[in-house]
Amino acid sequence: MEDLQGIVTIRSDSYRPCPLCHEGMVGAGAGDDEVLAVQVNHLLTHEQTRLLHVGQETSRDGDGNPYQTTVAVIGLPEPPPEPPKYDIRVVTPSSE
Ligand SMILES: [Zn+2]
Repeated sequence: MEDLQGIVTIRSDSYRPCPLCHEGMVGAGAGDDEVLAVQVNHLLTHEQTRLLHVGQETSRDGDGNPYQTTVAVIGLPEPPPEPPKYDIRVVTPSSE
């Protein structure tokens, strides 16, 4: 088995853009397994990615009530790139 250099974990209760191309993934609602599948399938379209694990995890919501989350772990051929940095400029309105 070749060395995998990074992993990405996708959870059905949170939104995360694709770590490789920063696009192609849509937001997931809480426990939305269908959207999770879309995200996993998208990641697997990238070369040399591999589905390592899919499982259930128990999370707790803001009120402490447990709910089931589906978690998928995908191996990457290289560490995920840094997310794009946003350019922040402070624009001072010119006084007239
Ligand atoms: Zn992608």
